[in-house]
Amino acid sequence: MNTEAYEAVIGLEVHTHLLTKSKLFCGCSTTFGAGPNENVCPVCMGMPGVLPVLNRRVVELAIRTGLATHCTIAPHSIFDRKSYFYPDLPKGYQISQYETPICKGGYIDLPSNGDGQPRRVRLTRIHIEEDAGKNIHAAGASLVDFNRSGVPLIEIVSEPDLRSSADAGAYLRQLRAILRYVDASDGKMEEGSFRCDCNVSVRKRGSQEFGTRTEIKNLNSFRFVENAIDHEVARQVEIIEAGGRVLQETHLWDPARNETRPMRSKEYANDYRYFPEPDLPPLIVAPEMVESIRATMPELPADRRARYIRELALTDYEAGVLTADRDVADYFEAAIPGLKNRKSAANWVMTEVLRVVHESGKSIGEAVPPASEIGALLRMIEEQKISLNAAKMAFAAMVKSGKGAEATVAELGLAQVSDEAAIAAACEKIIAAEPAKLAEYRGGRDKLFGFFVGQVMKAMGGKANPKVINDILKQKLAG
Ligand code: ADP
Ligand code: MG
Ligand code: ZN
Repeated sequence: MNTEAYEAVIGLEVHTHLLTKSKLFCGCSTTFGAGPNENVCPVCMGMPGVLPVLNRRVVELAIRTGLATHCTIAPHSIFDRKSYFYPDLPKGYQISQYETPICKGGYIDLPSNGDGQPRRVRLTRIHIEEDAGKNIHAAGASLVDFNRSGVPLIEIVSEPDLRSSADAGAYLRQLRAILRYVDASDGKMEEGSFRCDCNVSVRKRGSQEFGTRTEIKNLNSFRFVENAIDHEVARQVEIIEAGGRVLQETHLWDPARNETRPMRSKEYANDYRYFPEPDLPPLIVAPEMVESIRATMPELPADRRARYIRELALTDYEAGVLTADRDVADYFEAAIPGLKNRKSAANWVMTEVLRVVHESGKSIGEAVPPASEIGALLRMIEEQKISLNAAKMAFAAMVKSGKGAEATVAELGLAQVSDEAAIAAACEKIIAAEPAKLAEYRGGRDKLFGFFVGQVMKAMGGKANPKVINDILKQKLAG
């Protein structure tokens, strides 16, 4: 199959829960993991005659996300009813935004592919909507849990600017990082608070027109998204190569079988009978509100990445890894004051620290000693008080005990001996004990230098500063 002749075209629709305490139109709690139907009231259960009241915090978080993605914030937007029937939707319609979303026309810059050029993915829109409940089919019965009904979501729709599954993964990671930086969402895919629908089509390379797309629904892990796209691209190319036509359908990803299955033929906007929600007034956002939110925006991942490259001379890759998570970037920055070598600090955080974090499954704040202690440890390496190996041993011990760097190094006797008199004495002793080797060395067997270094290091219990040993031995062996 000639897949090289084809190019994938991908646009993503991401639904993410907003980090509010209460739901979009009522005061019910949004806490995840409550017992079935504990977080419900007449409003979010869709009882007749109740009225929705908009949660102001939702609007603020949607605006924060819009500003972080360079969108225009609409001064005037409206809510619409999207009608469809499903048991998890008690009102028979979802309150959403259709023609006038709160945010329009932004973009997200992805880390470069190694050429230093950021890749820009345009956003079509971001709108506010409510989540539905959850159907549970168990033991011969179908049950509905309305805890999630009315939980605030934003939907972030990208233009079809992505060209591979790897692009899609990079986009999702970057979007999730942004949402977490601005405290809009926790981005927890496994809890369903960050879900993605993928629109995928293929076209002949060089063609300007788009092919017919399929939509893959509700993918809840980065790996599923990437696998589902690869699978769908291959399937479409195969159909076209065999002379067939791709149908505009909605597919469901089956992770167990590693394949997509058609779920239903695609529904169109007019199937939903969108019309303005009569129970809510238009949403008016004053310019002062936007400006006061703008004033509280943190430095964003792309800016932080650029700053690390510019000011700390880190590579694209290093800056990308360190800024992917705000807590990790904060940790790194809290570790480096007073250090000369930022690059080795970056490496230390990316390897030693993140390895422990990932293995523990905990947050960086819980998994490893405070940043100041890592800074202290790295400073001891720079000041040649400990070797790199000793630092690794100390770090492992600190993770277990929670003790500080100085105390751990002292306790484990890891301090490196730089005392020249002590090292000189050890050198003399070794040289005196090895007259034959000394004669060989002086006769031209330079390689024996390493033997002498090893012997001195051994005599000093492995704790001598190797640079001082080298300097002193060179002098003494020369005679
Ligand atoms: P719908 O409302 O049916 O979901 P939209 O026109 O709003 O459709 O588009 C939804 C998503 O589909 C957007 O992310 C958009 O970028 C993407 N998209 C549109 N056309 C194509 C295409 N031909 N191939 C891939 N993705 C597409
Ligand atoms: Mg869609
Ligand atoms: Zn409620």
